[in-house]
Amino acid sequence: MTQLWIDGAATEAGGDARPVQDPATLEEIATVRDATPEDVDRAVRAAQGAFPAWAATDVQKRAGIVRKAADLLQEHADELVASLVREQGKPTLEAKGEFSHFVNGLRFYSELGSKVRGGYQELPSQFGRSYGLTIRRPLGVVAGIIPWNFPLTLLANKLAPALVAGNTMVAKPAETTPLTTLRVAELLTEAGVPDGVVNVVTGAAETGEALVTHPLVRRVAFTGQTSTGQRIAELAGRDLKKVSLELGGSDPTIVLADADLDAAVKTIQIGRYWNCGQMCLAPKRAFVVSELYDQFVDSLVSRVERYEPGKGDEPAEKPKLRIGPLHTARQLEVLQEQVADAVDRGAKVLTGGDVPQDTPGGHFFQPAVVVDVPRDARLATEEVFGPVLPIWRVDDVDQAIEYANDTSYGLGSSIWTRDAGAIDKAMNGLETGITWVNQMHYGYDEMPFGGTKMSGIGREHGAEALEEYVEIKSVVVGGLH
Ligand code: NAD
Repeated sequence: MTQLWIDGAATEAGGDARPVQDPATLEEIATVRDATPEDVDRAVRAAQGAFPAWAATDVQKRAGIVRKAADLLQEHADELVASLVREQGKPTLEAKGEFSHFVNGLRFYSELGSKVRGGYQELPSQFGRSYGLTIRRPLGVVAGIIPWNFPLTLLANKLAPALVAGNTMVAKPAETTPLTTLRVAELLTEAGVPDGVVNVVTGAAETGEALVTHPLVRRVAFTGQTSTGQRIAELAGRDLKKVSLELGGSDPTIVLADADLDAAVKTIQIGRYWNCGQMCLAPKRAFVVSELYDQFVDSLVSRVERYEPGKGDEPAEKPKLRIGPLHTARQLEVLQEQVADAVDRGAKVLTGGDVPQDTPGGHFFQPAVVVDVPRDARLATEEVFGPVLPIWRVDDVDQAIEYANDTSYGLGSSIWTRDAGAIDKAMNGLETGITWVNQMHYGYDEMPFGGTKMSGIGREHGAEALEEYVEIKSVVVGGLH
């Protein structure tokens, strides 16, 4: 039985046992007990106990420990990548990509943490010379709640800025992907992270709610579905806890007549089908101007036909590409319902869209390209969390932006053109937290990342994320002369 990680040691959980499955084979690979509210309380108290000493530790030393942890995790890359492949289902190549991003995220904040500068200003004197300082204080215990699509990257996004800023953490991985996170916690302790600074509890919504509502938790960093984010905001709001919510998306990508077609097709293909389409920032709706529409569709279909669903390594036969399974049976079911809804209403599936016959076991789905989709079909209005891209024909950039904004989501967006006027309209007109121009790149630790509208509150990545793990405090000093 796999155990929780509390106060620098493995410990039993008191809740129900839950099997962890390999989504590619449906083999049961471990059993993990859910943390009960009492277990959550132990973890939060351990984090609270460790907080004063960690907060008082010199920032260079904290950053050094995080850097050392990144080095140790890197030494265990093969083991952690294999663990991710097994419990998450993603192909080895994609798991390696996620692992690099994870370690880079830790390194980024270990470098940035000691370079934060505060503020100083002269003030009108009342009792002798007066001046003001703005200082940053850590918040205390942070709850990090993580989904199953990128268990490591999304952990680093929270853990690294939280720790470097002097907070302690109780992390809760998704109930279907607890194993790699638990092993990471053990390695963090081995690397010198003091006991209690990082704790991991396992379980689902009940465990998550016990963590969010625990009175000693001062900050909740959440990534997951919009509906869960709404619930967490409601619970955290009762005690006015700080929250960041990284939620769902339905990113538009716009291709104009002067686009570099080859670059656009390749990048949109990788963006949409990476991680079997289970990526918040994937382009989930494509709007292509009439002049390029047919060429774009033909080129994308021929590339998407190269995917071979399966487990682990890339297919031996080139130019086939590996695509993993959907993570759960429910994910597959929802995706099939969304495609069926579009087809019932007149859409055409140009490739894929079925469960492949010759892939026994997991929740596999042949990646699809769909056209002639009504703009109020589920493929347009809901988040599509699987390898399906609907494509719409548009007249020009103005119509594309209008259609692109016709969604409750506002995470990312992209545009393919070299026309400065169109780029300006897109960067100012697209209601999203991020807009890419002639590229999509998910690995920038430097750039703040997060959503508008129903895609969330707050930012991860960049110097901006560090600000979300501190309280700004004003200190006014006078009476010195
Ligand atoms: P989810 O909301 O079902 O679960 C996420 C985490 O929240 C899990 O650890 C889960 O156990 C926990 N949880 C569930 N109910 C809870 C509750 N009531 N209280 C506290 N915790 C609770 O999300 P998912 O299906 O695992 O993840 C996929 C979703 O995440 C997609 O919508 C995707 O777009 C989104 N996502 C967003 C980003 C981003 O940065 N914006 C990144 C990755 C994924």
